[in-house]
Amino acid sequence: MKKFFAAIVAVLVVTATVATVFATNYVGNANSRKFHVSSCSFVDRMNPNNRVDFQSRDEAINAGYVPCKRCKP
Ligand SMILES: [Zn+2]
Repeated sequence: MKKFFAAIVAVLVVTATVATVFATNYVGNANSRKFHVSSCSFVDRMNPNNRVDFQSRDEAINAGYVPCKRCKP
């Protein structure tokens, strides 16, 4: 039974890790045409009217956005 519980715990840890990775999204600035990781300090200072959310890095680049030099997304 110990192995059974160890397997359940392992599955939960992996699921939580994957969920965290997929929750990381990118935020673009429609004014500067740059995009950031959501934790970048520029995102906090950004005018909410200029904020554009992206689900992936590719999505931001395809939309013509340039990676931020500080957070290097
Ligand atoms: Zn940034």
